[in-house]
Amino acid sequence: MNKSDTERMSGMLMSLGMEETDNEKEADLLIINTCSIRQLAEDKAFSKLGVWGKLKKARPEIKIGICGCVAQVKAKEIKKRAPYVDLIFGTHNIYELPKLVEELKNTDERIISVTNNPYVPESDYPINRAKSVNAWIPIMEGCNNFCTYCVVPFTRGRERSRRIEDIVKEAKKSLEQGYKEITLLGQNVDSYGKDFNDGQTTLANLLRELNKIEGKFRLRFVTSYPTDITDDLINAVKECDKVAKYFHIPMQSGNTEVLKAMNRRYTREQYGEIIKKLRKSYKEVSITSDFIAGFPGETEEQFNDTLSAIEKFELDYSNTAAYSPRPNTKAAKMTDLFLSEKVKSDRLFRLNECNKKAVMHSNQKCHNKIYEVLVEDIKTEDGERTLTARTEGNKIVHIKSDKNNIGDFLNVKITGSNVWCLFGEVV
Ligand code: SF4
Repeated sequence: MNKSDTERMSGMLMSLGMEETDNEKEADLLIINTCSIRQLAEDKAFSKLGVWGKLKKARPEIKIGICGCVAQVKAKEIKKRAPYVDLIFGTHNIYELPKLVEELKNTDERIISVTNNPYVPESDYPINRAKSVNAWIPIMEGCNNFCTYCVVPFTRGRERSRRIEDIVKEAKKSLEQGYKEITLLGQNVDSYGKDFNDGQTTLANLLRELNKIEGKFRLRFVTSYPTDITDDLINAVKECDKVAKYFHIPMQSGNTEVLKAMNRRYTREQYGEIIKKLRKSYKEVSITSDFIAGFPGETEEQFNDTLSAIEKFELDYSNTAAYSPRPNTKAAKMTDLFLSEKVKSDRLFRLNECNKKAVMHSNQKCHNKIYEVLVEDIKTEDGERTLTARTEGNKIVHIKSDKNNIGDFLNVKITGSNVWCLFGEVV
């Protein structure tokens, strides 16, 4: 979502006549778009601001801005901690950027614009997409779930969906520009449309509408909340030939007690039932997840349930992280239950090892099968070209080929794999 916001902000700045540069030393305007999902991301943002503060000492005319989730919840702290920052704006203020940049030109005062009233423009806005074949399209923002460890409801607000017609319009435009894969984004994507309360604006119906667009392209959506995956959505994914048979469904813990403490509204068994249903519904489906190691009070036994869940549900891949207390969240107040850094890092290590095994198992199941892949990148080393492509199940495949180009769909036979990728040949 942050990357998508960055593409939108970059597009707005370019429409003002600005140019991008890879060299921060020559930039006139520097903006960091921050993430506050874990403390480490926040620390990195402050450290980058420190580097830019030094640049500003040498070139006082440059302007420095910070936006995104950290700016949304910590504007006052940033103002104090980084006096050289000229512009602070929140997650709900990104569409104000052209106006804020104009204001910056005419003042030496610092500008702070952080609102809690979300605004998504209905009309077109310029987007400078970072990837060559994949267009990210946010379809909703915010979350109503309040998982006890998560800062998103505080940084992104409550769920708000965009209208189906606006999304279809943006999708058509990106396809006309040559994009071949559309990823629909939402913090809780299968809640899409609930705020319209009309029974028609649902993720399933949105997929059906997008699937009608002519031409060869692929559609996917992230991130799903386990118990919000409806039968209608499962059917829509089955009916729509352009929709990837791929679900990203964070489980977070394999233990029901820990899930309860996390305020996740399902048990280990219910999560298993959903996975079973999805596997039964499609010939082949890829399911990925997220897990947290060392949630406050998590026992060794409860942690082992997470390891066994990854194995039992044959998850294709999982994002993993050690628990990190976030501002405003309930879990951050459970200080007497916090586990030591050593316990957390040991559990994270074991979680990663378990995940690697699951990925290897999943990748090996692809051997000798033929998949349609979309070429995303080409690298030439020692005169040999290697294509990097993606399967419908979101696996990366490396292929040696002289003939094919970025944006091509190819049929590829998988000849081998390691933890990070598959290897294949064009058939
Ligand atoms: S559902 Fe996801 S985004 Fe929403 S509060 Fe829970 S973890 Fe955060």
